[in-house]
Amino acid sequence: MATILNKSLPTNNQPASSIMNQIRHSQVHNIMTMQQVVTLSQQYGLYENHDELIAMLMYLHDLGEVIYCDKVGDDGIIITNVDWLLSIFRSIIQLQDFVQGSAQIKRDYDIASQTGKLSRSYIDHAIYKFNLDDNSKQTILALMHAYDILCSITNEKNDNGEECQYFVPYLLRYDVKPFDLSKYHQSDWLYIGYEHTDIPYLPDGIYYCLLSSCLKEWNNTDVELYYQCAKYYLANDNHYLVVRKEESHIGLQYCYQEINELKRSQSIIDKVKNSIFVKRPHEIVKNKLISTVNDRMVKFKGADCRYFVKCSECNTQTSITEEYKEGDQNWIRCKHCKMEFASQSLNDWVIYNEKFWIEKKIYAEDKERACFDLIAAKLNGTHIVRFGVLLKLTDTKINEIKSSQDEGRYDKVHNVLKSWKDKAGMNAKISAVVEALRKMEINALADEVEKKMTE
Ligand SMILES: [Zn+2]
Repeated sequence: MATILNKSLPTNNQPASSIMNQIRHSQVHNIMTMQQVVTLSQQYGLYENHDELIAMLMYLHDLGEVIYCDKVGDDGIIITNVDWLLSIFRSIIQLQDFVQGSAQIKRDYDIASQTGKLSRSYIDHAIYKFNLDDNSKQTILALMHAYDILCSITNEKNDNGEECQYFVPYLLRYDVKPFDLSKYHQSDWLYIGYEHTDIPYLPDGIYYCLLSSCLKEWNNTDVELYYQCAKYYLANDNHYLVVRKEESHIGLQYCYQEINELKRSQSIIDKVKNSIFVKRPHEIVKNKLISTVNDRMVKFKGADCRYFVKCSECNTQTSITEEYKEGDQNWIRCKHCKMEFASQSLNDWVIYNEKFWIEKKIYAEDKERACFDLIAAKLNGTHIVRFGVLLKLTDTKINEIKSSQDEGRYDKVHNVLKSWKDKAGMNAKISAVVEALRKMEINALADEVEKKMTE
């Protein structure tokens, strides 16, 4: 069976092989469906059962004699001519230095090397010489998709199949300019990868596969690439995710637009933080890296994939392995220089375990409530306007609170604090309230609030 199927074997002159050659010539095609292989093996009395056949195909695949892919077609497909397939792959992913063809093809070529995106017409042009019918073309694109070499990009504006685009990170030139993120808030970098002793280096091929695989997750035309770096738009979560390759690690950063209007800005920040905490894009990328490495670097299958942060003392990535305890906050000890440092990344990516994060949040909210109650109970009514001014409430808001007929003194002070909290959002720190009290020389109450916060 192996001899029949292998179409790229050299022909020799022995008489027995001429029958073999006839079979190969008439019944073995470069691309075969599972059903065709079953029929062929039955015809020559080589079929025992389905499992035996699959085992044989997998064995031939491991040897590199055929390519057997069960992710394409109904029951998988078999490529009997591996060299032929590789030369098709090569014509698609290795852009020619001198492109022959129309002006449109030349333009597509330039776009591809600048953006890592390829048009369908360029692909058709690149594989024209192989004379493939539409079915074979589809199968080959599906194979490249299954192996994460390329990935079709969903274009919401154009779903009538006009011009399809493909994301092919292999194509990108190294001199493409980095993104301009100056108008965005950028999180600290979090790294995903392996200890040097486990996997010393992640090849570019693994990184490119990871990028295609990420595109399948957050598929939209907003993906942008530059050398060793990609930026995905997470449309439902108002932020971008940057995925960068740094030697043996994959660096992650999220960024969102900085808006000068407080309410809008706060709603974006809340949405982004919530998305990081609940949807955990870093965990999605980590799982994709694990499966890519398991599939393609079989020797390293099962190696321990971890999160890393960069040490601010020695500038080296150090892995996060231990569980976090409440007292640790964002402090971590570097495995290389043995120094302790506070990592913004641990905070930005909510790395510590979820239960602790929620407990910490409830705990902080409880404390804040207690402080608000203390101030509302003790602050004299004559201080309301100045308190509002110092906490930067608008004059309208202060007047509204002050002149309310239905509310007593306690309610009014409490309202000042609540309005301040709504306005400051995530940046609302009780220390600002303490500072306001001290400016008003109400030091005894300020001391009490501080004491309550540290209890
Ligand atoms: Zn260090």
